[in-house]
Amino acid sequence: MEVMNVCLFPNDKPQSLEVAQALKEKLAKIAVNVTDQHPDIVISIGGDGTFLSAVQQFSNQLSTIRFVGVHTGHLGFYSDWLVSEIDTLVERIADDQGQTVNYPLMEGRVHYADGQVAQVLALNEMILNRITNSLSLDVYIDDLLFEKFRGDGLCISTPAGSSGYNKSLSGALIDPDFSALQMTEIASINNRVYRTLGSPIIISAGTKIRIVPELGNSTINYDSYQLPHSEYEEIIFEICKQPLKMANLKQISFWQRVKNSFIGEDC
Ligand code: NAP
Repeated sequence: MEVMNVCLFPNDKPQSLEVAQALKEKLAKIAVNVTDQHPDIVISIGGDGTFLSAVQQFSNQLSTIRFVGVHTGHLGFYSDWLVSEIDTLVERIADDQGQTVNYPLMEGRVHYADGQVAQVLALNEMILNRITNSLSLDVYIDDLLFEKFRGDGLCISTPAGSSGYNKSLSGALIDPDFSALQMTEIASINNRVYRTLGSPIIISAGTKIRIVPELGNSTINYDSYQLPHSEYEEIIFEICKQPLKMANLKQISFWQRVKNSFIGEDC
């Protein structure tokens, strides 16, 4: 039988480093190889921000890796294992049958004015925004010029990211069983020239959202990161062919995650 490779990915908080050390010792007892090289499972230890960083770190190996999140501090959306549960986590890894839940990822392709192309993956969302002055963008759905946006920005989120920034913009929460992208507006201006739908839209896999800046340029954020500021001609957003694989060692549903994060146990 092949030995399982597990990578521990803590943030730099002392508690996360302690948990990583404890997990390393416990995993050694079940003959798991703790390594950063070609991991089968990556365990992020921290908050959701740490989980998002772990996904970016291993974005070139997503077809072979499953992810788990241990939360140091309060319960996170992706990081659903508490520090007090790490013995159970190690037992589940020892008995692992490859249980997996897939979460759709988004691909964003940025075509810069100088001809360069940047391709990024996002687990949560990509946000185009501008804090000073408004932003004007043409929004295409496939080849259809759908609307002319003017305002603070746009958020294009995945189903898993629908509970992040998208939720603060009154977007809907989407079950990650749906391969879909949601676009929500950030403070749109509506007048005779610029007119937008005003409500979030949800597009299916295979459909592309294309953004062409008309006036000014925005910052381009993806998950916890930002691309270097540079003039771009268009950005194309679509569902990535490769989903994120979550190791479903706790058998926890998306809606249980949502309840844990936002509603709590009291009802
Ligand atoms: P951050 O600004 O340090 O944290 C933002 C908060 O969002 C944290 O409480 C984080 O949980 C939580 N979060 C992240 N992804 C989530 C998800 N899918 N569902 C529910 N909550 C989620 O930034 P960060 O930790 O690097 O995370 C970046 C993400 O934060 C972005 O992708 C965006 O979705 C979200 N964000 C939201 C707003 C907003 O709602 N106004 C503003 C900025 C960023 P933890 O405490 O467990 O890390």
